[in-house]
Amino acid sequence: MEIISLTQDKEKLNASFILRKADPVIANTLRRLMIEEVPTMAIEDVELVKNSSILYDEIIAHRMGLLPIKTDLKSYFIRDECKCDGKGCARCTLQMTLKSKSGMVYASDIKSKDPNVVPVYPKTPIVKLLKGQEIEVLATAQLGKGKDHVKWAPCLAWYKYKPIIDINNSKIKDADAVVNVCPRGVLVAKSGKVEVDKNKLLSCDLCAACADKAPDGVKLNEKDDEFVFYVESFGQLKVKEIVTTAIDMLKKDLSSFKDALEAMK
Ligand SMILES: [Zn+2]
Repeated sequence: MEIISLTQDKEKLNASFILRKADPVIANTLRRLMIEEVPTMAIEDVELVKNSSILYDEIIAHRMGLLPIKTDLKSYFIRDECKCDGKGCARCTLQMTLKSKSGMVYASDIKSKDPNVVPVYPKTPIVKLLKGQEIEVLATAQLGKGKDHVKWAPCLAWYKYKPIIDINNSKIKDADAVVNVCPRGVLVAKSGKVEVDKNKLLSCDLCAACADKAPDGVKLNEKDDEFVFYVESFGQLKVKEIVTTAIDMLKKDLSSFKDALEAMK
């Protein structure tokens, strides 16, 4: 199993990479670990001290729970695995407060005891207050996993087989027609011949529009041990952190399985 050619955006929240020498079992395990197991921080408990806004307490609690929160995996533990036995302490929970008396209340109005662990998108609206309305909330954030609630999922992750496009130009009559039919712009025409644009190859979705235009000229296939992976973070963690944490988890699971097996007589 090998990872090559990681491409990331500026914020390191969108990335694609190629997983080589793997099979669908490994690829899907990695995908599921990223979505369901890599923990992130989210608001879990809320106490509405005051709420005279138009929204019910439950709706405000729900909206606050869904806010993506910047996550520091090194400083916090999963509450059930913490030394405090799940009672809640500074190692596994983080207190936040929200107080407002006017106008639109945004995620940025939430005060966190840890300045590094705050909502990712400060402009997320929570509730709009009219004159005389007021809100006061005490909230507790904690690490959790996407398999328990989607608010803790760090990302979307999906993959496809790496496409293989074989072109036989002697069987293609109208190169431009084949090139233009591709919705992803993967093909180019050069002096009447169809060629694959190497930089665009990975955008190919194997829709086969080109092969429909020239059934003998274009053959499409998939490389069955190479996967093009896409990961889109919701913002709590950088993509690299999500992928490496997922890989560490897989290693840890395998080694605890090995230990358990060795302990058997
Ligand atoms: Zn604790």
